[in-house]
Amino acid sequence: MNNTENKNEKNGIDTKSITLAQSASYNKLKKNNSEWVAKRVKEDPEFFTKLAQGQSPEVLWIGCSDSRVPANEVTGTQPGEVFVHRNIANVCVHSDMNMLSVLDYAVNVLKVKHVIVAGHYGCGGVAAALSNKQFGIIDNWLRHIKDVYRLHANELDRITDDKAKVNRLVELNVTEQVYNLCKTSIIQNAWMNRTDLEVHGWVIDISSGLIKDLGVSSSNSHNLGYVYEFDNVEATAAH
Ligand SMILES: [Zn+2]
Repeated sequence: MNNTENKNEKNGIDTKSITLAQSASYNKLKKNNSEWVAKRVKEDPEFFTKLAQGQSPEVLWIGCSDSRVPANEVTGTQPGEVFVHRNIANVCVHSDMNMLSVLDYAVNVLKVKHVIVAGHYGCGGVAAALSNKQFGIIDNWLRHIKDVYRLHANELDRITDDKAKVNRLVELNVTEQVYNLCKTSIIQNAWMNRTDLEVHGWVIDISSGLIKDLGVSSSNSHNLGYVYEFDNVEATAAH
């Protein structure tokens, strides 16, 4: 193949080189998968046979979509141990059918014992929510975090360092999302019938890899407040 064939004649871009670079990162995924399978089978020939039989994770992880905070790696867990839901800035909104479906399945079918909201310092979603820039459709999602800011504006406005301000909002956002989960009838109904379900709030420090437990764990609905704590929760379908 000569140079002319490799170039986009209109703009001179070497499209073949771009395609090769793109396929290299893509093909790496397939190669890694083959190697991972071989390694697992070498360690335990029955690994995938057992994995295919079903799952019984004890943890639901609701984390940020950020590529640096993968649930299994951060917690040193194996496939089958953590049920995972991730979105930008680990937001739990009571009108999000995706999150509610994951929560309902995890709590009522898988019977997980721990629901963990895991944020992380330096979260781009939280930082974006603290600005007044338009980012597109994501602004609608970030509104939920802007509302968390509004709830805690007195504290946050006293922080002059921008990075510290974002990181404090990261913590407050996780705390509010834990609270949001506790407000759902899914969690409250489960608490009516079980004593082994806890909701927790964590923040991951990407610069050290370590988790900070925010100490906001809940195992009952007693502190939710009158309008949020459902009476006879089994009878209501509202989330
Ligand atoms: Zn994030």
